[in-house]
Amino acid sequence: MKTMIQASGLVKKYGNRTVVNGLDLTIEKGEVLAIIGPNGAGKSTTLDLLLSLKKLDKGSISYWCKDPAQHIGVQLQSTPFFPGFTALENMRMFAAFYGLRPSNSELYTLLDRCSISEAAKTDATRLSGGQQKRLSIAMMLMHNPQLIFLDEPTAALDPRARREVRNLIQELAESGTTVVFMSHDMEEVHKLATRIVMICEGRIEATGTPEQLLQRYNTESLEELYIQLTDSNR
Ligand code: ADP
Repeated sequence: MKTMIQASGLVKKYGNRTVVNGLDLTIEKGEVLAIIGPNGAGKSTTLDLLLSLKKLDKGSISYWCKDPAQHIGVQLQSTPFFPGFTALENMRMFAAFYGLRPSNSELYTLLDRCSISEAAKTDATRLSGGQQKRLSIAMMLMHNPQLIFLDEPTAALDPRARREVRNLIQELAESGTTVVFMSHDMEEVHKLATRIVMICEGRIEATGTPEQLLQRYNTESLEELYIQLTDSNR
């Protein structure tokens, strides 16, 4: 298996508070990696470090290619669309950040892939929560990334929208995109993830496939496992 990102001994402090505390993380090609852990555990900070959005205090990160930003797609929790512009126009502007000038048919192909072409001509900020998530995924795919990061992609969605976004993530994974996502929904994690990394207090508390973790900790569900591991951390 090819390693896409290898992070070793990551440390990040805010003032005198250490929020990422010697974290080692490897992301392998083709996996669907779920990053779980309590609020405040350091998950988003770790993501920011991997994306070079924040500066490391210690540690190192190596990438599978020279220009990772060109091959990584990111969906953060809130995607600020330009108000007053349609979904299609927002996509064009976003594409410009990557120096891309996609044709209408390329954009529609992408919108179709994300089941959102019906919204092409609607003001992006007026779309429903589920449509906005799918549009933001369409936007993050514009430069055809090999690795994508999604920060709680189904949070606050209704069940139908959640299912659509999950299906989309699964399809992307099946088509060979490496996926890293964060979620507090353990059922979702069980359904989607080929591997789980649990972060507590800025460190990796446990890692393995869902089945390995259930066996190792002798629990029946990931939710139970989560409670068990976070209890022992209090
Ligand atoms: P998670 O994503 O697991 O909820 P975060 O990485 O967002 O956790 O945050 C880890 C800790 O770092 C939290 O206690 C948070 O309050 C703190 N934190 C995050 N960003 C900053 C910042 N820019 N300045 C100070 N503290 C921060």
